[in-house]
Amino acid sequence: TKWVYRFGAEGNEGRSDMRDLLGGKGANLGEMAQIGLPVPPGFTLTTEVCTAFYRNERQYPDGLHQQVADALAAVERATGLGFGDPERPLLVSVRSGARVSMPGMMDTVLNLGLNDTTVEGLAHGSQDPRFAWDSYRRFVQMFASVVLGVSHHNFEEIIDDAKTEHGVSDDTELSAAHWQEVVAAYKELVERETGAAFPQDPHDQLWAAIGAVFGSWMNPRANTYRRLHDIPADWGTAVNVQAMVFGNMGEDCATGVCFTRDPSTGENIFYGEYLINAQGEDVVAGIRTPQPMAEGRAKPGELSMERRLPGAYGELLAVRERLERHYRDMQDIEFTVQQNRLYVLQTRTGKRTTAAALRIAIEMAQAGMITEEEALTRIQPTSLDQLLHPALDPKAERHAIARGLPASPGAAGGAIYFSADEVEARAAKDEATILVRIETSPEDVHGMHAARGVLTTRGGMTSHAAVVARGMGRVCVAGAGGIRIDYAAQTLTAGGVTLKAGDWITLDGSTGEVFAGAVPTIEPNLSGDFATLMGWADKVRRLKVRANAETPTDAATAARFGAEGIGLCRTEHMFFAPERIGAVRRMIMAGDATSRARAIETLLPFQRADFAALFRIMGDRPVTIRLLDPPLHEFLPHTDEEMAEVAEGLGQTLASIKERYEALAESNPMLGHRGCRLGITFPEIYRMQARAVFEAAAEVAAETGRPVRPEIMIPLVGSARELEITRAEIEKVAAETAPKDGSAAVEYSVGTMIELPRAAMVADAIAAEADFFSFGTNDLTQTTFGISRDDAGTFLQQYIETGVLPKDPFVTLDRDGVGALVRIAADKGRSTRPDIKLGICGEHGGDPSSIEFCEMLGLDYVSCSPFRVPIARLAAAQAAL
Ligand code: ADP
Ligand code: MG
Ligand code: MG
Repeated sequence: TKWVYRFGAEGNEGRSDMRDLLGGKGANLGEMAQIGLPVPPGFTLTTEVCTAFYRNERQYPDGLHQQVADALAAVERATGLGFGDPERPLLVSVRSGARVSMPGMMDTVLNLGLNDTTVEGLAHGSQDPRFAWDSYRRFVQMFASVVLGVSHHNFEEIIDDAKTEHGVSDDTELSAAHWQEVVAAYKELVERETGAAFPQDPHDQLWAAIGAVFGSWMNPRANTYRRLHDIPADWGTAVNVQAMVFGNMGEDCATGVCFTRDPSTGENIFYGEYLINAQGEDVVAGIRTPQPMAEGRAKPGELSMERRLPGAYGELLAVRERLERHYRDMQDIEFTVQQNRLYVLQTRTGKRTTAAALRIAIEMAQAGMITEEEALTRIQPTSLDQLLHPALDPKAERHAIARGLPASPGAAGGAIYFSADEVEARAAKDEATILVRIETSPEDVHGMHAARGVLTTRGGMTSHAAVVARGMGRVCVAGAGGIRIDYAAQTLTAGGVTLKAGDWITLDGSTGEVFAGAVPTIEPNLSGDFATLMGWADKVRRLKVRANAETPTDAATAARFGAEGIGLCRTEHMFFAPERIGAVRRMIMAGDATSRARAIETLLPFQRADFAALFRIMGDRPVTIRLLDPPLHEFLPHTDEEMAEVAEGLGQTLASIKERYEALAESNPMLGHRGCRLGITFPEIYRMQARAVFEAAAEVAAETGRPVRPEIMIPLVGSARELEITRAEIEKVAAETAPKDGSAAVEYSVGTMIELPRAAMVADAIAAEADFFSFGTNDLTQTTFGISRDDAGTFLQQYIETGVLPKDPFVTLDRDGVGALVRIAADKGRSTRPDIKLGICGEHGGDPSSIEFCEMLGLDYVSCSPFRVPIARLAAAQAAL
């Protein structure tokens, strides 16, 4: 088996389409070398080595050692250096690289191959002992912390001591001799902490580092990241070994990170940060302040790379152009300049905000780089959520206490907490929280996920906090240097204000401002790029998108987001309103039909007004009204006071009311007296609701002169007969309320929810009575699995974590079980009524994977909550492509 692939010398064996085997980093290093970009030579140990390693009790496969030795020899030939050579030592980096980038999840070791002998050779060869000793101390520190597990703050203390001792404030002021002392202290520390001397043999170093990368694939933070991002553990990581180039050799050297377009806004400008005389992670570590790339972006006091290193900058501009054309997407590039020579160390598809993703996709399509269809596939539907979120109300009063970098846009307020665990615990109790840290690391990812926003006081636009927050769509203000955080006291001090844990702040991730207290927010702008993309999506999608909405506010939001109708109006909330519930209770508790009818009559005007309001907003778009569904139980009076009220209203004794209460109480209300069962046993209810629908529809149609399209939906039907009975009642009411002039302004239909397995199995018979089916996949999932959503909390999470179930079936439709029933019902329904209209109205209606399934079944529409309508429009378009 071939376990090792070479790049940059003697043939490039990797290509960008080999990312499953070589990881993203390795595949792209091969591709870049192939198209002639300056990539230092190296080789990749495949992800299959990782999988084999774990399958085989952490043993490497046969032949690996020889293949690594051969590839290393090729790098030696290409560079003219020798690994472990005392005169001309070859140094390498050892880098992890999974199929999908897992930023910061695994660690890199740089300058590997240095020891007490080779450091002298490096010093001699470069005629700069300071550089050699700086590299050596970096290596000891990285190797010790990444490979040997020595905590890195120990090393920082040694540097701090050295700086104090020599009276300097900046690392760059330490001389060769100083670094030499630091190295000696480092090695002592390692020996003390690990009980063994720092390894001197470069081959031992190399294999230990390779082992550490493979080992890190299963470390807890990598596991967390994979869980959050649905990355299977058996993908494995690759390891890249690559000749070092040095950005820390002097003033004509640098290292940096850049994006081919602005990852926050998507603007087509060259964007990034660099540091002179620096190496590796210095740029993101926040020790020195990185400088901007482009002169146009430099603020007073900043020195752009364009001005400082014009030659290398020019080369980099060409690389930017080349890589973007080649990959046809925005790239995130890592580079190093060694003595004015540019080297490219990594390229990958750049992470970006949703706003940037839209702008980039649209501008690339408009420039002919990609098609409109490709542009649509570039946007993750659920990410649109970010755009639908509020911004600060410009008119609101506010008091900025600090300003940082606008690292991830949107506005969010919450109570501040200083640890990821605290944030997670508070957020679990529905508290709005902001995670406040000096800087974040992969250990904080779960807190960032739980928080509404993230605030850091250190780090740039490419710092860990910024990159991760943008990826998650969390609001983030990074590097707010004016804020002081005291972890011990749990306080934050800025602008003369001291806030403690639990106090509120508001972040504006679009400007970088931090405000004390809660600042009101306003709705987002849905024109511009958003409207363009939605327009493209609407051109290609086949599925219609409706919203689940009951209130005029929700209906208006849905309409604004482009809903093509209401797919589910739950009428029960109309019963619970305080001024109505009394009448509902009297209706249920009444012994005889007359007092029941009287009670229900008082509800009619309320319902009529509710429906009329919805019809006015939706115009001639269809509105599906589901008649009363929840268990009778929920409407019963519970307290003595409520019972007394009902007794008085009905002129009965309290005792007789209590007796009736006992008679109607249920032990399993969700499987009890609800849905059409209620409609059949208390026919007055559905009759009243139908009357309210028809009268409201006629009223609005008369007002507007346009047809109104109510679709009356019967819940919880399990047999055709149930629908036949309820439908007949509704039709009777329709005839009674029909306008005398015979105008057909009300175009109603009657259909049913399919939410019981039995209904799915007899859907052909039910369809004979139904103009439409709406799959109520929430209940259908409950009844198919026999799991009550309200009680699932105690075990479902564990089921998902341990893989008993692949996904939460209440979030993503279970295609094999629930989906099979939907398919059967759709087929059977069409067999007896070929033109039956089919839709879905559970939570799944807003879930992209479930929408894809609906497209596969050829349903007519999906219906979801108003804020999910844009997501569903895009997901439906992607499903149709
Ligand atoms: P990550 O995946 O966390 O970005 P990388 O493997 O890309 O880790 O390494 C981090 C940084 O180390 C790179 O951005 C680069 O600056 C530096 N680096 C890696 N390999 C080399 C090399 N061969 N020469 C010089 N610097 C390197
Ligand atoms: Mg790293
Ligand atoms: Mg990198």
